[in-house]
Amino acid sequence: MAVYAAIDVGGTKIAVGIGHEDGTLQATTVIATDPGWSQDDVLDRIAASVDQVAETAGVSRAHIERVGLGTPGPLDGATLLETSNLHAWNGLNWQAGLTQRLRVPVSVENDATAAGVGEWLYGAGQGTRDMVYVTVSTGIGAGIITAGQRYSGSRGNAGEFGHIVMDLDGQMCSAGHRGCLESMASGTAIRRLGREKQSESAYLSMRPSVETKDVFDGYELGDPICRTIIEGAADRLALGLSYLVDLFNPERIVVGGGVGTHAPAAYRERFTQGMRRWSLPALAQIVTVAPAQLGEDSGLIGALALAVTG
Ligand SMILES: [Zn+2]
Repeated sequence: MAVYAAIDVGGTKIAVGIGHEDGTLQATTVIATDPGWSQDDVLDRIAASVDQVAETAGVSRAHIERVGLGTPGPLDGATLLETSNLHAWNGLNWQAGLTQRLRVPVSVENDATAAGVGEWLYGAGQGTRDMVYVTVSTGIGAGIITAGQRYSGSRGNAGEFGHIVMDLDGQMCSAGHRGCLESMASGTAIRRLGREKQSESAYLSMRPSVETKDVFDGYELGDPICRTIIEGAADRLALGLSYLVDLFNPERIVVGGGVGTHAPAAYRERFTQGMRRWSLPALAQIVTVAPAQLGEDSGLIGALALAVTG
């Protein structure tokens, strides 16, 4: 049976696995990244880890059909353009560096696209031809599947959903413009708004500090300030989702990420209804919304899905 290698690059660690076409991972390992590593260091360590997990799985590197790698963007094809916390890696070409070391073909996508392919092949998007995966966590991103294929854009950066501008006078974002969806509806935005309004909220003012979860807890308990924050975030997300519905006419929108997956049902109900209200009726009628199914493993299984789909 063919085996595939999966690599999920994160800000502080890199997960590596060996898996199969059915979406199962047979052996995995995690490398804690060091900001002092050069590009050769990181590529050498990933290659060594692939060999190590292959050995654990009882296969030789020669049996690996393809490698899939999901990485934070922005990308220029298979090359990392710039990273906020790992500057030494700017300009790192994942595909060239790993193909040279492993002698196996490598598929590279940004992490949201990879997770989207994973949900499409093995999770909540199974059986669809057109779907969009949306992750709502500290940031917001999307992975697009159209006509049964992943849509990467010209240089691998399609699906930068969190940076669509929704308010020209809004909060400044890391990319240097104002009023992005991410600055209004991400977990980070919810936490920021909770902290700004802490003294006005009966619930939040009792907390020593405010995290995203505290604002959701206050919302569930009926605290009016928390309710305003969460409903505002849900409505902004809903508006963004309605753009995806009108642009891509998907059968399904799969919502994942820490906030998207774990938030209360009333919040999910609100952004689903808003999305339907603000998209064209004919398109709103056919789209279904489903929570992501792959959870914590979405990055690594997404990378596996990239390897399997080529
Ligand atoms: Zn932005």
